[in-house]
Amino acid sequence: MENRYDIAIVGSGPAGLSAAINAKIRNKNIIVFGNKELSNKLVKAPKVDNYLGLYGVTGEKLKEQFIAHIDSMNIDINLDRINNIYAMGEYFALMANEKTYEATSVILATGIEFSKPLKGELEYLGKGVGYCATCDAPLYKGKIATVIGYNEEAVEEANFISEIVGKIYFVPMFKGELKLKPEVEVVSGIPVEIQGQDKAQKLILKNGEINTDAVFILKDSVRPEQLVPGLEMDDMHIKVNRKMETNLEGLYAAGDIIGRPYQYIKAAGEGQVAALNAVSYLDSRNVNK
Ligand SMILES: Cc1cc2nc3c(=O)[nH]c(=O)nc-3n(C[C@H](O)[C@H](O)[C@H](O)COP(=O)(O)OP(=O)(O)OC[C@H]3O[C@@H](n4cnc5c(N)ncnc54)[C@H](O)[C@@H]3O)c2cc1C
Repeated sequence: MENRYDIAIVGSGPAGLSAAINAKIRNKNIIVFGNKELSNKLVKAPKVDNYLGLYGVTGEKLKEQFIAHIDSMNIDINLDRINNIYAMGEYFALMANEKTYEATSVILATGIEFSKPLKGELEYLGKGVGYCATCDAPLYKGKIATVIGYNEEAVEEANFISEIVGKIYFVPMFKGELKLKPEVEVVSGIPVEIQGQDKAQKLILKNGEINTDAVFILKDSVRPEQLVPGLEMDDMHIKVNRKMETNLEGLYAAGDIIGRPYQYIKAAGEGQVAALNAVSYLDSRNVNK
């Protein structure tokens, strides 16, 4: 078990990193979860004209600037993926694959996935459909699993679960080299539906189907209400007030995940607001102790 952090920040895009630098300036003990590239939405931008002070930069350059900034402040990114967050009363428990982290306050800055759930995805969630392959793979020992992978982390997860399951298919949803083990069979196609009876049994693609016991859908972000049970949503966004407070005390949210417009500087501004209010929350708890 790690120490209990003051603030855990989930997400390493502009919202999460802005929250991180502001919390660090206020001397809080923080942990930031995210990925090596910071944010896929950052590196994919060909040209950014609306980030104040950095006219015409590429997303890649913006990423380099962000990394230089956090490095100068000794802020590290923990590459563990957070699969669940539970409000425990005095603190939050953040579950990664094999570890649990504790923090008094949490800022969710996980970005947003634009794609709608597949037909049958929510119906079979927990009944063969999952978002964390490494967590659930032991349930499918010797069985057939299918990974719908949206990023390189999905490739790593597929390689890992190939050691557990009897047969594994990988449906790639991104371009690029797939560094998969030979036992992972790649199936190209567009997923349209998950079918089954009590449990998922089949993944229907536009050009075919796969009989399977499990379907793991591995995207950059999972739906917030899956991540944090009890979180109040406003359609596809997390409901917050102007302090970026959610309905769960001590839990804040910022960036694309709380609503439009989906823009870097808006995300960064909200990350700052969330961090400063999380700091006030922590300070008020210390005063009232
Ligand atoms: C091609 C493209 C071009 C764009 N161009 C512009 C532009 O020119 N100007 C502009 O203002 N905006 C632009 N945008 C929009 C901008 O990218 C987003 O608004 C911005 O990145 C949102 O920041 P965010 O911090 O909320 O989330 P994101 O940048 O999406 O970051 C979220 C991070 O959280 C991580 N994460 C998610 N879930 C977990 C978890 N469970 N555990 C650990 N980590 C997790 C993700 O991996 C990701 O790193 C563009 C977007 C795209 C796709």
